[in-house]
Amino acid sequence: MKYEPVIGLEVHLQLKTKTKAFCGCSTLFGQRPNSQSCPVCLGLPGSLPKLNHEAFGHSIKVALALHCSVQKEIKFDRKNYYYPDLPKNFQISQYDKPVAHDGFVDISSCGKIKKIRIKRVHLEEDAGKLIHQTGGPYSLFDCNRAGMPLLEIVTEPDINSPEEAYDYLTGLKSILKYLEVSDCDMEKGSLRCDANISVRPAGSDKLGSKVELKNMNSFKAVRLALEHEVSRQMEAVSAGEKLQQETRLWDAGKAVTLLMRTKEEAHDYRYFPEPDLVPFVPDPSYVEDIRKTIPEMPDAKAKRFKERFNLSDYDIAVLVSDKAAADYFEKCLESYDNPKTVANWIMGDITAQSNLKNTGIRELGISPQGLAELLKMIDGQLISGKMAKEVLLEAIEKRCEPAQIVRSKGLEQLSDKGELEKIVKVILGRNEKSVQDYKGGKKNALTFIIGQVMRETKGKANPAVINEILKKSLGE
Ligand SMILES: [Zn+2]
Repeated sequence: MKYEPVIGLEVHLQLKTKTKAFCGCSTLFGQRPNSQSCPVCLGLPGSLPKLNHEAFGHSIKVALALHCSVQKEIKFDRKNYYYPDLPKNFQISQYDKPVAHDGFVDISSCGKIKKIRIKRVHLEEDAGKLIHQTGGPYSLFDCNRAGMPLLEIVTEPDINSPEEAYDYLTGLKSILKYLEVSDCDMEKGSLRCDANISVRPAGSDKLGSKVELKNMNSFKAVRLALEHEVSRQMEAVSAGEKLQQETRLWDAGKAVTLLMRTKEEAHDYRYFPEPDLVPFVPDPSYVEDIRKTIPEMPDAKAKRFKERFNLSDYDIAVLVSDKAAADYFEKCLESYDNPKTVANWIMGDITAQSNLKNTGIRELGISPQGLAELLKMIDGQLISGKMAKEVLLEAIEKRCEPAQIVRSKGLEQLSDKGELEKIVKVILGRNEKSVQDYKGGKKNALTFIIGQVMRETKGKANPAVINEILKKSLGE
């Protein structure tokens, strides 16, 4: 019998806000442990949570971009469980009335477009962090992360291969980055992903016992963990074993999934309405105002680029994958109308520098106009292409515009015909013997004369222009 995997993904996104989800504590990353907590974070008696307006706005923005319906009445609930990283013993989350539901993301996988349905988007708070001491008899607790706003984005089980899961995550991350609601940095934990996976006989519409996979800290790890889990489950069902509902952890070192616990059900969490936050109805005009702030999404941008610019699908995909690079590209074209050249420079030298410095394109300090100026100098034969690359590197190092480097170093090529003609005349007058040699058939005498012109102009003379003048002067 043939089996197929059925996969659903849960993405946890840390929202970029100044303060936490339900209190005024700062969300700055990497601060001294426990320096960002208050009675609300700790759930002390008498403290009251208050919903962060910015976090809620970000949630609506994501929901709308994922084509979800915003819930008519929004309600928060307490999810009760005991764990040492959760001082309150409950997490403020959403149970039956999440921020939004029933959306979709179109993903491009194996050259085809596939619709992945979004089941729900809900807002909750993060837990604190335990720092385990290797070999030590204790663990340390950092409360700074407790109460950070998290958005959970849950798909329907529409994903049928580890490859599709990877493509969904890549597409979703690109959308989320465009919305500028999170830094989507998996290393800092601001984007996390859990997967639900089961296998069933191909063509069946029944779902098998699902296994929840955790502890995957990159999209590649998600793909590897799913690949491993698909074969583990397929082997088991092929051998007639019955799988049970459970949670497994991905062990990246050993490249296997390990049993963590048998699965708990929703009723184990004793959800009940959060008594300190009243349900509320978002004003439709508020929602519409947020809709207006959603920028052009990556797929729409790719379509527009394809219609407008004569670029390959590969170039477009690379440019569009980074909103800052795509914006930079279009800004540069306003002053220099050659899309392919601009794309090559952005995807080549500029991306290489931003990768090297591990920074965004905007942070390199070269304005799109500055790059346009540099490209114009190459076209106008003021500098050579090779020189331009060196100028760009120096401009990035010195944090100034490329034109400033060219001017301060006097790098401009000398291409003025009238001026060069005068210089050539002087050189020819000084080197009559070489001129006679050349006319007598010694072709390499010309190389000597060109060398003399270059010396006279300190190497700045444009070789193409000198050649043209010399050939004319020497009667060719
Ligand atoms: Zn707090």
